[in-house]
Amino acid sequence: HLRQKVEVSGSKEIIELGNAFNAMSQRVESLDKARSEFVANASHELKTPLSSIKVLAQSLVQDPNADIKVYKEFMYDIDSEIDRMNNVINDLLTLVQLDKDKPDITYTDVDLERLINEVLKVLRPLAAAKNIKLNYRCEEGVSIRGDAPKLKQMLINIIDNALKYTPEGGKVDVCLRKKDGEALIEVVDNGMGIPRADLPYIFDRFYRVDKARSRATGGTGLGLSIAQKIAYLHKGTINVESSEGEGTRFSIKLPLNMG
Ligand code: ADP
Repeated sequence: HLRQKVEVSGSKEIIELGNAFNAMSQRVESLDKARSEFVANASHELKTPLSSIKVLAQSLVQDPNADIKVYKEFMYDIDSEIDRMNNVINDLLTLVQLDKDKPDITYTDVDLERLINEVLKVLRPLAAAKNIKLNYRCEEGVSIRGDAPKLKQMLINIIDNALKYTPEGGKVDVCLRKKDGEALIEVVDNGMGIPRADLPYIFDRFYRVDKARSRATGGTGLGLSIAQKIAYLHKGTINVESSEGEGTRFSIKLPLNMG
């Protein structure tokens, strides 16, 4: 009787082991697939500006007597394609850092009101250039434990998007408060919004609703995935609600500093 039981439990264990092994190899396979997709996407993002640079440079090389006006125009385009490659590489390097098993995070007490003011100082000229009203309402004394430069980058990515995807004369409201024992930062714009079908994917790496528009405004398709990763490393979340043609609301929740 005992032997039979061992045999039965033995075979059950083997089945379980087999299942675990299958699940594991499936996971490795999908990680492998994700990795090669990432490399393919990254290469594509770098190849596109590189091809433009090649075409522009080549036509100047082949026509040494080109008009100085053409020269200047092409050099200007080459310069902005280089900026684009730089943006992609910087975002890729940031993601690689954040993806590490132990990302370099330095925790300090961060006063969110101050941090957001610093971020808005950087972005106000952009808002002014598009005649967008950038409002900020906040509750005082909302403090969290976190890495200030990374939190700044997260907020820049979200608020910069709000400014990018809102037409001239629009508005962007930033609001900071405590809610349900958490810090809540809301960024609300009255811009173009995001189609319902795209909403589940906007945090995916390289995902863009409108590739042409995103590229034209210097986007890499990595901004939101970086922002989400930073929120996640602070045990926080980012949610999005949007209505096409009406606007978008990003809600960032972060655990409060209890210390
Ligand atoms: P990108 O570099 O293209 O801006 P992100 O990862 O920052 O990449 O955002 C992904 C996509 O989500 C954008 O291409 C854009 O289509 C959409 N998106 C993000 N924020 C907004 C917003 N506030 N309003 C409308 N669309 C947005």
